[in-house]
Amino acid sequence: MHRCGLYIHIPFCKSRCIYCDFYSTTCGSDVRQAYIGAVCNEMALRREYLSLPILSSVYIGGGTPSVLSPEELSRIFAAITEYWQLVPDAEVTLEANPDDITPDYAKALAALPINRVSMGVQSFDDDMLRFLHRRHTALQVHQAMDSLLSAGIDNLSIDLIYGLPNQTLDAWQEDLDKAFALPVSHASAYALIYEEGTALCRMREQGRVQETDEELSLQMYESLMNKAAAKGFLHYEISNFALPRREARHNSGYWSGMHYLGLGPAAHSFNGTSRQWNSPDLHAYTKAHGDTVGSELVTTETLTPQMQMEEMLLTRLRTAAGLNLTDFCHQFGQHALDALLARANPYIKNKTLAIADEHLLLTHEGLFVSDDIISSLFE
Ligand code: SF4
Repeated sequence: MHRCGLYIHIPFCKSRCIYCDFYSTTCGSDVRQAYIGAVCNEMALRREYLSLPILSSVYIGGGTPSVLSPEELSRIFAAITEYWQLVPDAEVTLEANPDDITPDYAKALAALPINRVSMGVQSFDDDMLRFLHRRHTALQVHQAMDSLLSAGIDNLSIDLIYGLPNQTLDAWQEDLDKAFALPVSHASAYALIYEEGTALCRMREQGRVQETDEELSLQMYESLMNKAAAKGFLHYEISNFALPRREARHNSGYWSGMHYLGLGPAAHSFNGTSRQWNSPDLHAYTKAHGDTVGSELVTTETLTPQMQMEEMLLTRLRTAAGLNLTDFCHQFGQHALDALLARANPYIKNKTLAIADEHLLLTHEGLFVSDDIISSLFE
């Protein structure tokens, strides 16, 4: 039986960070109200994309979901529970910006089904946070954590970014020490990407910032792995670290074939046989789903066996558990398995891939070149 998850995209931010290309916009309360109505309508229209009316996880991401008031979030949960049953230990995550989490807001979140908060911290250097146009300070991260813990939400995750302009290895290590001193059970860390169309990318083109060189970026990744391990965090996915049994269940679902429905502009869905994605247009989305029509905004792609194979490779090899070769053979046949192992062989020989307990997985060395290896395993 497949686990099912629900993702809800909240495309609003109070201001834009200079590196971000996520689909989000700044807006007022009337736009938010109309949007929430549209999301609830989309739930009603598309709930049967998932074969089961039971959810193991809900993830409210963005954008900045913590711009929503408790009443607005409550409307969303009322609709969710109208159409689905949450399993008793369902993981229900809200992404939040530290400056939104006041003691009262934390209490209101705890009164909803939310039991996990993923906080966009990025850095503990206030000058860097200002440069990135983040709205919070390092102090607010601590205050937000205190508020959440006092309210009874103790499954806390943080996002960090490394390879920031002019960031030294020492500065990154200081960030890591501060991060792992927090009462968090999960951390995600990503190398800064200069996405086309962002203010940061324009600054690079104008010569105002320089991209971190690859060698320093790899050293930063290595110190991330070392500091996480020293604090007892398991490196369970290329960019994700968790204390035992605190792996993100919803995100892990993306890497293990979970079926999920994504609601809101630009949200993606997957149900084993097809992928769907919504048009990234807030205005069109709100208008269409406000009228309880809107399926024309959803694009569907039925997955060929080749695409299913690539999906399995791409997702499973990102994880510490790796690709289960028995499952792979069962789904795609012995011939496909032989071909895969032939392509994997040079990497097994140079020790960037390994086979252990019938699983193909990246080694420590392989983690540094994971993108190249995974793409070269495709036919
Ligand atoms: S708050 Fe998050 S989603 Fe919004 S602009 Fe900043 S990084 Fe992007």
